[in-house]
Amino acid sequence: MFQKKENRPFLIAGPCSAESEEQVLATARGLKDLGIDLFRSGVWKPRTRPGAFEGNGTMALPWLRLVKQETGLKTTIEVANGNQVYEALKHGVDVLWVGARSTVNPFSVQEIADALKGVDIPVLVKNPVNPDLDLWIGAIERIRNAGVTNIGAIHRGFSSYAKSKFRNAPYWEIPIELRRRMPELPLICDNSHICGNREDLLEVAQQALDLNYDGLMTEVHPTPDAAWSDAKQQITPFVYAELVASLIVRRETTDNAEFLENIENLRHKIDEIDLELLNLLSRRMRVAEDIGRYKLRNNIAILQAVRWNEILEKGFVQGRQRGLNDEFIEKFLAAVHNESITHQQAVMHPAVEKEV
Ligand code: PEP
Ligand code: MN
Repeated sequence: MFQKKENRPFLIAGPCSAESEEQVLATARGLKDLGIDLFRSGVWKPRTRPGAFEGNGTMALPWLRLVKQETGLKTTIEVANGNQVYEALKHGVDVLWVGARSTVNPFSVQEIADALKGVDIPVLVKNPVNPDLDLWIGAIERIRNAGVTNIGAIHRGFSSYAKSKFRNAPYWEIPIELRRRMPELPLICDNSHICGNREDLLEVAQQALDLNYDGLMTEVHPTPDAAWSDAKQQITPFVYAELVASLIVRRETTDNAEFLENIENLRHKIDEIDLELLNLLSRRMRVAEDIGRYKLRNNIAILQAVRWNEILEKGFVQGRQRGLNDEFIEKFLAAVHNESITHQQAVMHPAVEKEV
């Protein structure tokens, strides 16, 4: 159900929270003609600190039924426990989603899964707040084991203590790895909760489409500045329409023979370079082992902080000259350096190596 269409992503839009019948209907009316696939709204809101608006709860569910009756839009809400699943089903909600703060907790996910047994309603599972792919996959498996056949994943970014322009760091490598491990699973980007602001919404949405995501979930509110939750990241239906119109949807593949031949040649070059890289890395590890033996003979410690800093600093300078960014250089050299240490440890403690 959540797969992208020929030239358009699967679109989920609606307010962060259902504040009143008027606000919910005004948003839905604004979105009706834009061809969205699903109307979202939070009914029970998991707020970080007490005292904030925690949602209107069950009282808001009839408003979503009105949305369906008046606009024909299907609806989706977040559920965080068995009772909320029961209430949502009773009020005819079409799709449920598991929020980031629930995915993180297998007890909650299992309770939701148990409440879904025998009810094959589509379910979307947001990534957990922490960057843990197995926890995300585990939640998807629990929902699937309950007999739900229509499941999708929502990437909404990850909490991080580090300061960043994002509210929730995207760590794109995590959804990319999810795609590799579950290639059939539809993947949707919640650009609103990744960004936490309005300015970067289009950039993040386009990044997701460039990575072949199936859809987008975006928070839309008739008067965003006055929203009772997540005011900074919500946009009006008009701005949302502009965002959707600016998106470029890439094709997955083509049968153009010239393209296929050229891409084949380029991929061949990449394969050759990858092989060269592996040969170089292998040579580097042999030298690291020589160093390990030499240090052993002279009783010298493996880790030399000054030398490691020197490698890194030189790497940054030389990397920049070659168009490589510092973040990548740091990750790459740290991985290589760690592996060199492992090789040196192996020559210093051959017995330990043999035991494992
Ligand atoms: C939401 O979508 O309104 C929400 C609370 O999201 P998340 O679970 O991603 O924080
Ligand atoms: Mn929100």
